[in-house]
Amino acid sequence: MSAEFETHLAPYAARSAATRGRARAEPPAVARSEFQRDRDRIIHSTAFRRLEYKTQVFVNHEGDLFRTRLTHSLEVAQIGRSIARNLRVNEDLVEAIALAHDLGHTPFGHAGQDALHECMKPYGGFEHNLQSLRVVDELEERYGGFDGLNLCFETREGILKHCSLENARRLGALGERFIRRRQPSLEAQIANLADEIAYNNHDIDDGLRSGLLLLSQLEEVPIFARHVHEVRERYPALAERRLIHETVRRMINTLITDLIAETRRRIAAAGPESIDAVRAAPPLVAFSDAIRREGDELKLFLRDHLYRHYQVMRMTSKARRIVRELFDAFMDDPRLLPTDHRLRAERDRPRAIADYVAGMTDRYAIKEHRRLFAVGEI
Ligand code: MG
Repeated sequence: MSAEFETHLAPYAARSAATRGRARAEPPAVARSEFQRDRDRIIHSTAFRRLEYKTQVFVNHEGDLFRTRLTHSLEVAQIGRSIARNLRVNEDLVEAIALAHDLGHTPFGHAGQDALHECMKPYGGFEHNLQSLRVVDELEERYGGFDGLNLCFETREGILKHCSLENARRLGALGERFIRRRQPSLEAQIANLADEIAYNNHDIDDGLRSGLLLLSQLEEVPIFARHVHEVRERYPALAERRLIHETVRRMINTLITDLIAETRRRIAAAGPESIDAVRAAPPLVAFSDAIRREGDELKLFLRDHLYRHYQVMRMTSKARRIVRELFDAFMDDPRLLPTDHRLRAERDRPRAIADYVAGMTDRYAIKEHRRLFAVGEI
C-alpha cells in the first residue's frame, strides 16, 4: 500500500516498504506510508506540544517573536524537506526525524540539559538525544497496546544523533552504528545538517532582534558580511529589519544549495545503490569545505557573542539552579512528586525524576520551583 508514495525515490533512499520495522508489529499503514504514520504520531504526541514552551536560546517569556523549540523544529523540517526533495530521498522520513529531534530537550535549552546531566552523573547521566528516543520509545502514553509511539527503526535511528559508547552498547541494533562507526540514512544526515542551518540562521535573527547582537559585529563574520553586502548593493535604502531578513534568507539559500551540490557530488563519487551502502559509506551529506569553514566561524561567533552574552548567562545560571534544586528536592523526598511520577520513582528514583524534570516546559519548571521553594506559595 505505502509503496505508491515512494515510487520517485532514488535507490539510496529509505523506503517504508523496506523498513527494518517497529519494535512491536502492527498492521500496515492505510492511506499513508509508514514514515508518514511516524510523523503523524510525533505531531500528536504530548512531548511535541510541550516544545512550544521550551527555550531555544531565549526563555519563552522574554518575547513573543523568538524561536521556541517548536518553531525551531518546524524550520528544521522545512529545510530538511527542501533538501530531501532535491536529492530524491524520503521527505516524510526527514520530516518525522526533524519534528522529533528535540522532543527530549529539557526546559531552558542547553543550560537545563547540562544541569540535569550533572545531577544524573552518578546514575548514568542525561543525554538529550537519548532522551528524545526515550520519549518516543517509552514515555509517551497514547496507545492501548504499548508504551511510546512504536516508531520505525529508521525514524529512531535518525532521532539518535549522538550517543555515548556505553549507552550505544545497551541499545542493541540501534546503537550498533556508534560502535561500528557507521553512518545513519541520508535522511538522518539531512535532518542533522538542516538543524544546524536552522539554528545558526535563526539565532542571528533572534540575536539581532533582542539587541544582544549588533549588525556591526556580525559584519565581521565573513558569511554574513558577504550576504549583507549583496543586499545593500541591490537595495541601498533598506530599513534594518528588512535588511536582516533579506540577508538571513539569502544565507539559508546559499547553505541549502551548497549542501545539495556537495552531497550530489559525494553520492556520485561513492555510488551507493541502497540504504545499507549509505550506512557503510563515509558521511555523504555535507557542505563544501569553503562553506563548512564559514559555518564554523559563524558558530564560534554566536558562541562568544550570543550564547555567552552576560544577559544570556544570567538566565543560564538561574536555569541551572532551578533544575538542580528541583532534582535535589525530589531525590530527597519523592513524596513531593505527582502520583504517576512517584510510582515510576519507586522503580528507579533518579531516572523517574530526570524524566519528570526533562519533560517540563520553561514556565512549568519555574512554577514548580516556586511551589516547592517560595515561602507563602502553596
Ligand atoms: Mg535542534
